[in-house]
Amino acid sequence: MAQNTFQFPTYFKLLLMIITTLGKIVTSLQLAEENISDKLRNDAKSLWKVSRDYGNIVHEVPAMVFHPASVDDIANLIKSSYSSPVPFAIAARGQGHSTGGQAMARDGVVVDMAALRRERKKKGVGGISVDVCGEYVDVGGEQLWIDVLNETVENGVAPVSWTDYLYLSVGGTLSNAGISGQSFRYGPQISNVLEMDVVTGKGDLITCSKQKNSELFYAILGGLGQFAVITRARISLHPAPTKVKWMRLLYSDFSAFTRDQERLISIKALDYLEGTLLMHQGPINNWRSSFFPLSDHLRIASLITKHKILYCLELSKYYYHHQSQQNLNKEIEELLEGMGNIPGFYYEKHVSYVEFLNRVRSGELLLQSQGLWEVPHPWLNLFIPKSQIMQFNSGVFRGIIFKRNITTGPVLVYPMNRSKWDDRMSASIPDEDVFYTVGFLHSSGFDNWNEFDAQNKEILKFCSDNGIKVKQYLAQHSTQEEWKNHFGDNKWKVFVERKNQFDPRMILSPGQKIFNNSSIVLY
Ligand code: FAD
Repeated sequence: MAQNTFQFPTYFKLLLMIITTLGKIVTSLQLAEENISDKLRNDAKSLWKVSRDYGNIVHEVPAMVFHPASVDDIANLIKSSYSSPVPFAIAARGQGHSTGGQAMARDGVVVDMAALRRERKKKGVGGISVDVCGEYVDVGGEQLWIDVLNETVENGVAPVSWTDYLYLSVGGTLSNAGISGQSFRYGPQISNVLEMDVVTGKGDLITCSKQKNSELFYAILGGLGQFAVITRARISLHPAPTKVKWMRLLYSDFSAFTRDQERLISIKALDYLEGTLLMHQGPINNWRSSFFPLSDHLRIASLITKHKILYCLELSKYYYHHQSQQNLNKEIEELLEGMGNIPGFYYEKHVSYVEFLNRVRSGELLLQSQGLWEVPHPWLNLFIPKSQIMQFNSGVFRGIIFKRNITTGPVLVYPMNRSKWDDRMSASIPDEDVFYTVGFLHSSGFDNWNEFDAQNKEILKFCSDNGIKVKQYLAQHSTQEEWKNHFGDNKWKVFVERKNQFDPRMILSPGQKIFNNSSIVLY
């Protein structure tokens, strides 16, 4: 993780500089031959922008940044690498909202997908087009989910599965999974894709779906950018609700909290379910959403003092303007009857559907205005089997987190149903029918991110020592053994076979550190 902290002796530095410069010259010469050289940049500003990401911990400088004006440009760039005697690495960069350098390409070429978005906007050929029957939307891989939301809602329809934050690119989230409180019911975003256009690591432009080129289709979904660049995704749509009843309940008992979460995700009565921790280290309202009224902060704070950790259950039910609120309230009341939350700490809001889905944006703008958005983010995101979540609570939430006393950012914890995922997709999840996602979404200072990194490592070690079968989401592994463990023997074998088929020269997304490590054995 800490590439920028290594201390090399001077002669090593010199050697590295010479090798790096040679690599850059080779890359430049290869590209100059193609009809794409006018879209390449290597000025300091362009290079700086793509050699950092939201994590702000890993920094890798590419030789060039590519500003495509069309899908053909992307295909030509990849072809030129594929046909070179020494191929150069290429990474598509959506928004660079990764936290471990996943969209970087040291000495290679970063494709700035935002340039394609700008170009399409300028030409008025938007990358988002809603089907006349409202069944699906065709979206460029470079587009942002917020724009997909605005465009579809205008047509009275919307995708069903989202991420908490919408200023992420479609290609970026589909390369991971795209999860949020809707996943338990509608699956992750990758379960809601009908078809894609992609450019493979050979430079071939291919359309794929469950029926057509299905191996490629499943490879790409959750495929960490390893097989192709997504240039169009067809996403299924449902009628867009207009309003959302948004609720929060507090728990002091983790087993009651998880029991209620698990019951609620087993029925289709709600549209969204998440959960967070409330602890003294952080504010009662975190930056991702300010929900609790100021008048109740003292009451909640004294509950935290009493119980050390509170668990906050977050629920939503969508509805339409014409629906009676009375019926809705009655339905929810019945649903929540007999739940194990702390009485007297129930909160609700009614907001528009767009306001609900875009709820994280206002917090982002506030942090930006305070200069706190571009700080290091030593995040850790995990998937944990349901059978081991109690052990995780006592060892990690009430053990490590408490002892270290540094966690101040949001900590998410909510379950999902495995049946809503398709195991043919590349995404790697636990084997059990229900599994939890836990996200430690830390922000840190520039001089203390290592403390959070050390805590993350301690959490992973605790899980490994205690046989807790966690999978990292948005994984940051760097050795063959770690990636093999991540996928498991069978899935790893398939992943490697797919890499050989679709990107045999190991060109794409080197920042994931899966295939560019020379120690990786391919067969
Ligand atoms: P990048 O960081 O630019 O790229 C990620 C990877 O995808 C790289 O390997 C890159 O090469 C590859 N890639 C990018 N575009 C393409 C393409 N078109 N075709 C093929 N490969 C491509 N995730 C969730 O699931 N749920 C959440 O609620 C959530 N909330 C978040 C909130 C914030 C504030 C942030 C910063 C991140 C959040 N994430 C969440 C994580 C996010 O989904 C991933 O980091 C995602 O990769 C970011 O998208 P991006 O466009 O910035 O991708």
